[in-house]
Amino acid sequence: MSNPDLELRRRHSASHIMTAAVKMLFPEIKLGVGPWTDTGFYQDFDLGEQKISDADFKEIEKKMRWITNKDFPITKKMVSAAHAKTLFAHDPYKTELIEEIEKRGEEVSLYLFGDLEKPFYTDLCAGPHLESTGQLGAFQLVKTAGAYWRGDEKNAMLTRIYGVAFESPEALDHYKKMMEEAEKRDHRKLGKELNLFTFSDLVGPGLPLFTPKGTVIREELSALLWKLNKKYGYQKVDIPHLAKPDLYKVSGHWDKYKDDGFLVTGREKQYMLKPMNCPHHTQIYASEARSYRDLPQRYFEVTKVYRDEQSGEILGLSRVISITQDDGHVFCRADQIEEEIANIVGIIKDFYREMGMLEEGKYHARLSVRDPKTPEKYLGDHKIWDTAEATLEEMGKKHGLHLERGEGEAAFYGPKLDFMFQDAIGRTWQLATIQLDFVQPERFQLEFTNKDGQKERPVMIHRAISGSLERFIGILIEHYAGAFPAWLAPVQAHILPVNEIHEPIAKAFLEYLQEKDARVELYDSSDSLGKRIRNCQKAKVPYAVILGDNEVGAYNNTPDAPIDFSKMTITVRKYGEEKDEKMGVEEFLKGLGR
Ligand code: ZN
Repeated sequence: MSNPDLELRRRHSASHIMTAAVKMLFPEIKLGVGPWTDTGFYQDFDLGEQKISDADFKEIEKKMRWITNKDFPITKKMVSAAHAKTLFAHDPYKTELIEEIEKRGEEVSLYLFGDLEKPFYTDLCAGPHLESTGQLGAFQLVKTAGAYWRGDEKNAMLTRIYGVAFESPEALDHYKKMMEEAEKRDHRKLGKELNLFTFSDLVGPGLPLFTPKGTVIREELSALLWKLNKKYGYQKVDIPHLAKPDLYKVSGHWDKYKDDGFLVTGREKQYMLKPMNCPHHTQIYASEARSYRDLPQRYFEVTKVYRDEQSGEILGLSRVISITQDDGHVFCRADQIEEEIANIVGIIKDFYREMGMLEEGKYHARLSVRDPKTPEKYLGDHKIWDTAEATLEEMGKKHGLHLERGEGEAAFYGPKLDFMFQDAIGRTWQLATIQLDFVQPERFQLEFTNKDGQKERPVMIHRAISGSLERFIGILIEHYAGAFPAWLAPVQAHILPVNEIHEPIAKAFLEYLQEKDARVELYDSSDSLGKRIRNCQKAKVPYAVILGDNEVGAYNNTPDAPIDFSKMTITVRKYGEEKDEKMGVEEFLKGLGR
């Protein structure tokens, strides 16, 4: 893996090099912000009367190459705000930024390309950067877009140019291939082709409607999640989709969600659509007096939460307003944290193994802990924090997770462990999470009676395995390129009678499979067998089952005798294969997870 700090500096410098190149071509332009991204960078420009489009990319890239060939040293220089203002007097955006730095009473950090006295290019920037422009590596400009200054639609609309930057031409090439593949697999496109979900203007953006086929996928995933959670002692609960605002005032979510949440007004009272499930679950815990022997209490449910999103941020299934979480909460004693975390890691591993994402070296976890410099920022008993952080770390190591450590990244209420998995085309997604919480039990005054007969607070553990079903299904569609494994596929098999005379038996076989809960369809002989097999492949159906004389001949001789399908041998063509294979019906059903 490449060095993340170096990549950050590479992409940050790339943004400056592009800006310098654009300025060589259009000296009059003014500059908005230009940060780095996961794979590259962007820069916002006020182009005045000018227009830049993809057609100008070649020319800009040529100038960028000229700058990298010159190998200008990149140097940081601190100056007073007053001096910086004279340097950027012509640029209202830079001036606005400098004035903010001035108000904070700080010096201004500049980055210079080339000679310190007569720099080739100077920009306002906090850094960090590469040592010289020659270290840039491989880059490419990607697209332009409109962006408001400071993201505020009341401000001027600027032109944003996006680019990517990598250590080598090979790495850039690899990225481009991955993006091409990602475009082919785009879940919005495939979701439509495979008829999995839809959106309606009348229902509203960000509110996906799952078709019968898409719903099969949701239910199979929910069933698997429940099966795995049940194994570790979780119990299903069920809560309403709204609550009095009071609930969120006590939990502390009100401040965050009064703007991002939905308030609903009934005949007399006001409610909020739940933005989180945790507060409801605390009230199930609190409904009874608990003793140390009753712990842990483990609650699980697949349920929706509702969070408002700006319409610009809504995107297919990746970002929606109605979010289905496979949510669970554990209320336990401090001495039970270790076992509970081990259980959850077990569930996560089982689940992602099933998805084909648990390959060695292709997943890792990020441990978010306190910032040791600011212990006062974190609520709860610091001794419990110490144990919790150490336990998360230990568990991570014990379970062979490659742990990154993020100091200062813990929430104020507890440390957490986030899990990142790679999909089939090498993109990394943050999916599962385990979060410890010492604050909700305090706010809701949750308690249990300990061995000595005294009241104690339980520890709360939040955990989500798939993250959200919508986003996860979007990722899965792209991961499998729409060709779901048989257990998850909306239609698991097509039954293909070779000729009309095989149709009665094909129908009887279909009914037999449907009784076993297999999701199968009959594809009658009005099309040629070759065409039907091709269509099955096109529809990404895992199995085409071919029933001809070879398979059913024996039964045709005695049409009135009952058929024991479980003993039959069938011919199947698997998705993506070029050859048929023979298979016993029991083995076939097992392959469907039935
Ligand atoms: Zn929670």
